[in-house]
Amino acid sequence: MKVLLVEDERYLAEAVTRILEKNHFDTDLAIDGEEGFIAARSGIYDIILLDIMLPRRDGLAVLRELRAEGVATPVIMLTALGETDDLVKGLDCGADDYLPKPFRTEELMARMRAVLRRRGELLTDGVLSFGDIEYDPNTLILSRGARSFNLTKKEGNLLEYLMMNRGQALSPDAIIEKVWGWDSEAEDNHVQVYISFLRKKLAGLGADSYIKTIRGVGYVLVDGHAQETEE
Ligand code: CA
Repeated sequence: MKVLLVEDERYLAEAVTRILEKNHFDTDLAIDGEEGFIAARSGIYDIILLDIMLPRRDGLAVLRELRAEGVATPVIMLTALGETDDLVKGLDCGADDYLPKPFRTEELMARMRAVLRRRGELLTDGVLSFGDIEYDPNTLILSRGARSFNLTKKEGNLLEYLMMNRGQALSPDAIIEKVWGWDSEAEDNHVQVYISFLRKKLAGLGADSYIKTIRGVGYVLVDGHAQETEE
């Protein structure tokens, strides 16, 4: 899971990065608001930890513009003492939660888990659930009831990205950035190939969930059972 930390206080930024990495979050650090905004708008993060007082652009302005651009990544605001007014504004701007500084490691992890759980139905130990399937990013095992498949790391990362963005179509460009990385030479057809690997495995499990192609936009994970019920 990918985290963007936007924090200008070097000591705190380093400490939080260490905590996150230790808890298996892949962490990128931005040290001012402008850098944070540019990174965040890529949409490749699962969660953003956003300080309010930042050089170049403050956290509230960053959040407001992200939401205005339709970036729905969950955001936890990191607030210093005496920033209560800013905090209320932050929640109004579309923050998912806030955490007053200084905070304890367990507190940060609990807030992140709560926000991620609301978003992607994160079960205990980081297991993700969607419709009738479950995926454990730690073991790379995709399961439905008693049946399961081992995924490759890339398949797993792709599935995790789809599961964390339920109902939202993901473009091949965003998928490449997220799964292969900024500097990769992967192309749209790599994405197609991995989507088809995942489709075969989902079908092999007899899952209701499937990956739908939205022409000209990208891919979205759909819960076929829920859709039938709606229709
Ligand atoms: Ca600051």
